Amino acid sequence: MCGIVGIVGQQPVSERLGDALKRLEYRGYDSAGIATIDGGALDRRRAEGKLVNLEARLKEEPLAGSIGIAHTRWATHGAPTERNAHPHFTDGVAVVHNGIVENFSELKDELSELGAEFQTETDTEVVAQLLARFRRDGMGRREAMHAMLKRVRGAYALAVLFEDDPSTIMAARNGPPLAIGHGNGEMFLGSDAIALAPFTNEITYLVDGDWAVIGKTGVHIFDMDGKVITRPRQVSTAAAYMVDKGNHRHFMEKEIYEQPEVISHALSHYINFIDHRVLPVSDDIDFAKVPSLAISACGTAYLAGLIGKYWFERYARLPVEIDVASEFRYREIPLSSQSAALFISQSGETADTLASLRYCKDHGLKIGAVVNTRESTIARESDAVFPILAGPEIGVASTKAFTCQLAVLAALAIGAGRARGTVSEQE
Ligand code: GLU
Repeated sequence: MCGIVGIVGQQPVSERLGDALKRLEYRGYDSAGIATIDGGALDRRRAEGKLVNLEARLKEEPLAGSIGIAHTRWATHGAPTERNAHPHFTDGVAVVHNGIVENFSELKDELSELGAEFQTETDTEVVAQLLARFRRDGMGRREAMHAMLKRVRGAYALAVLFEDDPSTIMAARNGPPLAIGHGNGEMFLGSDAIALAPFTNEITYLVDGDWAVIGKTGVHIFDMDGKVITRPRQVSTAAAYMVDKGNHRHFMEKEIYEQPEVISHALSHYINFIDHRVLPVSDDIDFAKVPSLAISACGTAYLAGLIGKYWFERYARLPVEIDVASEFRYREIPLSSQSAALFISQSGETADTLASLRYCKDHGLKIGAVVNTRESTIARESDAVFPILAGPEIGVASTKAFTCQLAVLAALAIGAGRARGTVSEQE
């Protein structure tokens, strides 16, 4: 997972874009870049490795302009070199992309036959080439964006600049999250609200299949049919967490020390500490009646699920099947619509976990989400949301989110045991 930032501003943007990229560093990356439009011309700086390298490039050769897009890349297609770093430029179009264009090879062949000359080894460049092609064919900017999205398959968060429109960023989401920030005469785009926290706390999250045209004073959002849609504007709490590392050497250390506090927050949501009772688990999932539980998650969250399985089986006498979500989604297992399924994801945006969730939903199962981000897609698509209340985890290796996941799973297993009569009140 890497990062995207965009600003349609009144003031120069390059420094603010660089600062926002730093707030996305926690997602991991191997190169970075910024593009702006100034005096009617696109320009960019890119660098391999850490953001200090990009900063050094910008110091040598600053970038002017009050509109820009920026990117931290975690390479999937093509080496992590400056040449492959985003933004990609093709004939007056600039593109940054998170994710993978799955049909890039077929599109590349098709465009090459029409004379396109590819500059990079990335899958992303087909997006810029397609847009440039459609513009040359006479399409307007929006029309070209819409036509491009109809051709591209896969997972993407995209931000696009057209050189002939220095007051608009276009964006699209299908998979990786994208948040639009509303400012005062300026608008922002970011992979999450943390990236945008110093600029604004008023956020509109794009949903899969949305694309947007962002100007200085507002945003128009469209669906895949090109119809205008509205998405709610929410006040984000990310700014409250924009704390620095304090006396700690790094965020991971800080987050390890935060565990006692956040675990007690998490447990207080599920346990009444006054009378020492587990609160009823959920009105939406009837744990007394479900014959079995399917748990699905990726990475560290999967490890939490493995432990959760033991607890649900031991305390609630509830049979649990657990799968890595990337296996589950392709396994096409037969499922009973009487069962429930639990999905564990820190961000609530894990693509494989979300795909598994949708598979279970299609089969009529009741869905529970154990997530850290309550506004996330996984939370939104679930019947019951079980927040882990760990606060933002910046360290890439999970610590407090993992232990909070365990705390919540323990509370749920005991709560399910109470509902099923397998744990007595005394116990
Ligand atoms: N697939 C694109 C690339 O390799 C984007 C990777 C990313 O999400 O950073 O350039």
